[in-house]
Amino acid sequence: MTIRTGIGYDLHRLAAGRRLFLGGLEIPFPAGLVGHSDGDALVHALIDAVLGALGEGDIGQIFPDRDPRYKNIRSTELLESVMAMVRKKKLRILHADVVVVAEKPKLGPWFPDMKRILGPILGVRDDRLGLKAKTNEGLGLIGRGRAIACWAVVLVGGKKA
Ligand code: MG
Repeated sequence: MTIRTGIGYDLHRLAAGRRLFLGGLEIPFPAGLVGHSDGDALVHALIDAVLGALGEGDIGQIFPDRDPRYKNIRSTELLESVMAMVRKKKLRILHADVVVVAEKPKLGPWFPDMKRILGPILGVRDDRLGLKAKTNEGLGLIGRGRAIACWAVVLVGGKKA
């Protein structure tokens, strides 16, 4: 049995009038995350964590933001491509844990819906996907509601050594 870990981090600026995509969901909010894709920082952090565990670089190398194919793409589609890489290596996600740092909106009520979307993509049950929300206590750019940051760790396992 082989076990690998991966860590991912992402931060996106919030801009008024954009749609907010986070954790694979569209969340009603007056501002959204700026990005070449849908800006879903939570999914991007997960993707980087998975790529780290695979030893396959990072999201910018696999899905370059200069590539028009990825303009406004839903990040869950990118995560699905990365999960195909996981399966090709005969590996699977054993567990994932995520921390979102956002002053607003309140994210806890959206976590069950995020799990319903992300769990099947990652191939994990509810109790193997941790989602936690923190504020930045009003400090810095995140605290002033100018950005949202996410951290993710994953545990990837498979039969081969
Ligand atoms: Mg990103």
